[in-house]
Amino acid sequence: KLSKRLETVTSFIQSGMRIADIGSDHAYLPCYAVKNGIAKSAIAGEVVEGPYQSALQQVRKSELTKKIDVRKGDGLAVISPSEVDCIIIAGMGGALITDILERGKEKLDGVKRLILQPNIGAESIRKWLYDHGWQLVDEKIVEEDGKFYEILVADIGSPSIPYKDFKKELLLGPFLLKNKNEAFIKKWQLELKQWKNILKELDKAEDSNKITSKKEEIMNKIDIVMEE
Ligand code: SAM
Repeated sequence: KLSKRLETVTSFIQSGMRIADIGSDHAYLPCYAVKNGIAKSAIAGEVVEGPYQSALQQVRKSELTKKIDVRKGDGLAVISPSEVDCIIIAGMGGALITDILERGKEKLDGVKRLILQPNIGAESIRKWLYDHGWQLVDEKIVEEDGKFYEILVADIGSPSIPYKDFKKELLLGPFLLKNKNEAFIKKWQLELKQWKNILKELDKAEDSNKITSKKEEIMNKIDIVMEE
């Protein structure tokens, strides 16, 4: 059985897609998606030897070696252009996910859908998608073991919709804002509390330009979240 987080990620794979799961670790997601007939085939990419071995083992154990190819390599280097319809990158920070996309940009030709699940920093991913012609088409936020996970789904196409209030929607997510569930509210209440603590700490520190701009950045975010 898949975790609620990975199950939600999987729910956005369109039937029959060829997927690549980058940073697959144990390869639970591609095994589940292929076994259940959601994905036609999969590539599980891993850059670290230990997780790469555990992906290989899991695929063998599941008897899916004909449909799932486990490859060792950095980010999108493991795929060829037009080899997959959908790329999944889950369980990493937003900065690492955008870095993998940015460094592998030429591999995105022919890819129709990106499903991205950052543990933190979804804002930087929304910005990257917007800047590179990927249209956000859906979002979900789920709570699991006291942690909050955002799942962003983007299709290739015009990035002009759905942003109306750009700064706010980049931070909070245009789709998540439309349908504020309990996880969304709890996540941002927690973030607010943490930002206020950071501000208190910064107030104790010697004032410098760097601290002032950090404070301003946090206060701006607090304003955006308080408005909601
Ligand atoms: N995707 C799985 C999930 O969501 O449960 C595993 C997440 S695990 C926390 C992150 C994995 O990404 C690790 O196994 C790590 O080795 C791998 N990873 C980190 N940077 C990577 C990169 N540049 N290319 C491929 N894999 C990477």
